[in-house]
Amino acid sequence: PASRVINFGPGPSALPQSVLEKATQGLLNFNETGIGIAEISHRSKEFVAFLSNIESLIRTQLDVPSTHSILFTQGGGTGQFSAVVLNLLARHRLLYPELTADERVMDYILTGSWSEKAFQEAGRLGGARVNVALDARKYSKDGVSFDNVPPHGEYAFSPAPAFIYYCENETVDGVQFSADPSAQTSFPFARLPRERSGLLPLVGDHSSSFMSRPIPHLGEHAVIFAGAQKNLGPAGLTVLIVRHDCLVDVDAAAKLGAAPVPLSLSYKTLADSKSLYNTPSMLPIYITGLVLERMQELGGLTYFEALNKKKAEKVYAAIRSGEERGVFQGKVQDGSGSWMNVVFNVLGDGAESRFLTGAEEAGMKGLKGHRSVGGIRVSLYNAITESDTDKLVGYMKNFVSEAG
Ligand code: PMP
Repeated sequence: PASRVINFGPGPSALPQSVLEKATQGLLNFNETGIGIAEISHRSKEFVAFLSNIESLIRTQLDVPSTHSILFTQGGGTGQFSAVVLNLLARHRLLYPELTADERVMDYILTGSWSEKAFQEAGRLGGARVNVALDARKYSKDGVSFDNVPPHGEYAFSPAPAFIYYCENETVDGVQFSADPSAQTSFPFARLPRERSGLLPLVGDHSSSFMSRPIPHLGEHAVIFAGAQKNLGPAGLTVLIVRHDCLVDVDAAAKLGAAPVPLSLSYKTLADSKSLYNTPSMLPIYITGLVLERMQELGGLTYFEALNKKKAEKVYAAIRSGEERGVFQGKVQDGSGSWMNVVFNVLGDGAESRFLTGAEEAGMKGLKGHRSVGGIRVSLYNAITESDTDKLVGYMKNFVSEAG
């Protein structure tokens, strides 16, 4: 409908119109059951089949190996900041019961405000020491901002951490690990300390890049988590990919002195119940399923990786032309720019609000940067089309020529 604008918001964010139209049907009558999706039992055979199909759609498109379970829960990325610590410290306790709290270490890689939040939560929960394996602010242009992914040589991991934590795409700061494995701003997999078993205790927050492109070394991760509300669906669904050795008996770990884990946060509880330990978020799951079916039809992650790369390149090119004229200023260092959240400043008194007002008048919303950092943020999740991007780029070019 004409009343819908282009929504460049960071999350919740745009969803494909065709999916929303189909979802309104499902609200009234889910898969010919005669009952709407918000009304039907989560234990009905129709819903259970739908959920299991979502799992296969993710498994196929992301190429998730059989060593990993795909789990569905609630609580968002923030819930997982806590759940990761509780589950993986329980696992570590079962593996190494003899260690003291000071000898047990969690390594955090800080590349932006979301990894920093997760790091703070780990400190709150305690039970182990928190080590900063890298703080990207040290390598920033101004010494205080998150504006880069540092080169591989700068990481300082503990010799045997209980886990290593990173955030793949920093939604607020617009910083992302490179998709090119040979780049110095790609994730430093080769440098990570392995466990005696050869496994990596690696945890990735993929909230704002999940299902936008393939995940390098996915099979080597212990845990990957993502809230659905960027590329996948509405807020209220959180997707987990958990390696089987991380589905641990948290009560057995508690007997050895680990912190007790609420059952709703326990990975093993979720896995044993096929993500139906308690009532899941039915409507977000339904819409996510429709998004995944559409993704599959369009060609899966091969299609979306190429599309998302192209969209981001167009916006970064428009920022560079604006920089040459002194109108825009990119905020992120070369090689670290996110494909999903592109951030820049509009230079000059009142220019930023003129940019935002003009964009709204042209039918484009959600471009205001996060309140903690200001500036402009363009979120280019999967539902943003190339023609949506072209419209924004056209607007940026006009803005530059009118200002210059
Ligand atoms: N991690 C990242 C990278 C995010 O972008 C967000 C939300 N914007 C979160 C975690 C927190 O997610 P939630 O709001 O679902 O708790």
